[in-house]
Amino acid sequence: MHIRRRDDLFELWAPAKLNLHLEVLGRRSDGFHELETLMCPINLCDTLYVQSHSSGRIWLDCQFADRRLPNGSPEARLADEGADNLVCRALELVRHEAGVKLGATVRLVKRIPVAAGLAGGSSDAAAALVAAAAAWKIDFTPQDLLRLAAQLGSDIAFFLQTGWAVCRGRGEIVQPVAGLGNLAVVVVTPPQGLATADVFAALRRHDEQRGRTDHEHRSIDGLLDAVQTGHLGRIGQALHNRLQTVAGRLSPWIARLADEFARAGVVGHLMSGSGTSYFGICRGARHARGIARRMVARGLGRAFVVRSRQ
Ligand code: ATP
Repeated sequence: MHIRRRDDLFELWAPAKLNLHLEVLGRRSDGFHELETLMCPINLCDTLYVQSHSSGRIWLDCQFADRRLPNGSPEARLADEGADNLVCRALELVRHEAGVKLGATVRLVKRIPVAAGLAGGSSDAAAALVAAAAAWKIDFTPQDLLRLAAQLGSDIAFFLQTGWAVCRGRGEIVQPVAGLGNLAVVVVTPPQGLATADVFAALRRHDEQRGRTDHEHRSIDGLLDAVQTGHLGRIGQALHNRLQTVAGRLSPWIARLADEFARAGVVGHLMSGSGTSYFGICRGARHARGIARRMVARGLGRAFVVRSRQ
């Protein structure tokens, strides 16, 4: 996350993430799933502007860079959510924890598609924790921030650090790894999303139908090795998302996107998180722009030409 200060106004850039590997290792007694995932930040970002305010209240103005918000879309729902926005929840948590009496005015500019497997909400929440500590001059340690992050959601800890990481547990155990900057990637978000809970439920049904309580686990080591050597072809071959097959049963967009990316001759392609956003690693920026145009022309959704951040 990138932070800039102008007088008492704090501006933070909150990046989206992609999952290059996602394995579900099992179900825990608390109902959460034990995960192993390699995540990389990309330069598709929301922007958060935070200014301390003496009123003791939090005012959030949530704007969307793309103004076409169809009724019933996750974006339209988020616009109505107000205090349920993770940004407000993060600020309120900091206020409560630190006993702060001040308030804040916040402007959130959303560019990351909502509920689409790109973790925009988690990234915004991480940015809000950092912004609140800065704006209210609270001396949180990194451990304090991690503890607050864990109370808000699973992916937030990843965004408190910079760069690529292997995340385990519910996602909150973060092990930074040396990643690759500047990978040219096209991300496509189709018109229909999937609820994360529905995708995990479908995975459980899928395992049960096969008469098992579990599936085989793909090792992350091949991908990590490929990333370390920077070998694009091997990275493309090693991409893996355990949720993709079951998400594909719930949404026809997944198979269509997989098919289009395969035809486009990308280095590798995969669904991100629990979907339905789907990405392809391209040979370069020109290749990526051509593919993005084609995806939009075929009505597959919104396409973003992005780069991985190291
Ligand atoms: P997850 O995999 O954690 O479910 P996701 O990457 O699919 O997340 P997000 O964009 O992070 O999707 O949104 C998840 C949910 O969080 C949405 O249903 C949304 O209404 C809610 N939410 C709350 N605050 C935000 C925010 N600032 N940005 C996006 N979503 C938010």
